[in-house]
Amino acid sequence: MSESEIPEGSKGIRCIVCPTGCLVHVENINGELILEGHTCKRGEEYAREEFIAPKRILTTTIRVENGFLPLIPVRSDRPIPKDRLRDTLKEIAQTVANAPIKMGDILIENVLGLEINIIASRDLITYSK
Ligand code: SF4
Repeated sequence: MSESEIPEGSKGIRCIVCPTGCLVHVENINGELILEGHTCKRGEEYAREEFIAPKRILTTTIRVENGFLPLIPVRSDRPIPKDRLRDTLKEIAQTVANAPIKMGDILIENVLGLEINIIASRDLITYSK
């Protein structure tokens, strides 16, 4: 990433990599990131990425046809950039899956071209009368 893509300003970021929960102060000083408060390399990497390009695992539900339940819980198989979460949710809202579904099945492959899949978080059997 070039210096011009690094956000301006500073931010206090709570590291969630381990239960210690260090508060890391991250500041962009003339294009160079200065970090204070972390106590290990993993925390430094987490805070740096969270400052530059925060990502989140997305969890939500997808509608299901022929299923024992009308919805199935799903999640992204990798963290999604925070600025793409809204578009990803729109894509998911337009998707209808077909039962039966196995936990881990890919219900949306390569969502929005992000090379991230949306996968089922549980099994779902078909509805039978
Ligand atoms: S900086 Fe290191 S020790 Fe502190 S919370 Fe993050 S991972 Fe844990």
